[in-house]
Amino acid sequence: MKRIISVVGARPNFIKIAPVHRAFQKYGKSIEHKICHTGQHFDEKMSKIFFDELLMPKPDFYLGLGGGSHAVQTAKIMMEFEKILIEEKPDLVIVPGDVNSTLAASIVAVKLHIPVAHVESGLRSFDRRMPEEINRILTDEISDYLFVTEKSGLENLEHEGVSKNKVYFVGNVMIDSLIHFMPVIDKSNVLEELKLRKGEYILSTFHRPSNVDTKKDLQELIKAINMIASLEKLVFPVHPRTRNNMINFGLFDNINENVILLDPIGYIEFLSLTKNAKLVITDSGGIQEETTFLGIQCITVRDSTERPVTSEIGTNHIIGTDLDKVVASAKHILDGNIKVGRLPDLWDGKAAERIAELIYKSI
Ligand code: UDP
Repeated sequence: MKRIISVVGARPNFIKIAPVHRAFQKYGKSIEHKICHTGQHFDEKMSKIFFDELLMPKPDFYLGLGGGSHAVQTAKIMMEFEKILIEEKPDLVIVPGDVNSTLAASIVAVKLHIPVAHVESGLRSFDRRMPEEINRILTDEISDYLFVTEKSGLENLEHEGVSKNKVYFVGNVMIDSLIHFMPVIDKSNVLEELKLRKGEYILSTFHRPSNVDTKKDLQELIKAINMIASLEKLVFPVHPRTRNNMINFGLFDNINENVILLDPIGYIEFLSLTKNAKLVITDSGGIQEETTFLGIQCITVRDSTERPVTSEIGTNHIIGTDLDKVVASAKHILDGNIKVGRLPDLWDGKAAERIAELIYKSI
């Protein structure tokens, strides 16, 4: 029996590991797949609801990390995860995405000579002020299996001199989850609950430090959101980081009444809102991919993307952080000037099956 531990910490990680866990079940007793939750995202709305909705088992290990600075989070995960690895001695550690848990777990594993598989490898925004970019570069550098979602990932890794023998173009596990849960998503009645009609609202999320961490940036962002919401009703599930900053900067009451402010919502409701929106405006990574898959127009309020396929062939518009341009772009799209996208290669719902098979054959 081969023993594998996947390490998850934050909301997007749960969505990426769910299909991998499901794919391993096919191998019965030949593979034992355990899940370690670092606790980077820990509350009901950012964590538990995803395990429930994505039908994931309770994590086998829970590190109870909680919040803290980047250094504190990384260090605490390393200290706790090392104990688990010494005790468990797995044959492989899987790390998805680009959060602090991803990097911390990889460092601990390679130093104990346990191979590491990075799911969603090779993505680069080329913006080293993003903590995620540092996590991606370093994790790729020390991983043994690099599972890539889009062609840019292959090019980036080649450019960085990573041996081709370690790199596998498998597709996108986030899209696996979306395809798998589509029948459930289609049954959601979140639109009725929020009194929304298909194609007649905008969905928005923001949580990147570059948009929400200073009072000035957040104030400007809220002004832009209000302006856009005067064109079309806007639904805004607020990430805890953004909510805390809105409260601390005294900006919470600045939102106008055309904005439906929500707590973070579960995966099924969120994807139902995405699928039926006229436009999505976000600074998220994963949402750029989900909108491309669903053919929904997406404005990305960032200067760069690590997922260029979503803009090159998908429905993503990378507008930058100049909010006048964001408002102008929203108007333009709402007026019907839309991008017709197509699906990136291998975003077919089978990425996790490919990963499981490759791992089964190699370890
Ligand atoms: N998401 C969700 N509820 C929300 C907001 C987002 O379920 O209220 C999902 C969304 O569908 C996507 C994932 O969370 O799959 C993206 O996570 P996030 O934007 O937090 O992280 P990023 O992708 O930017 O790392």
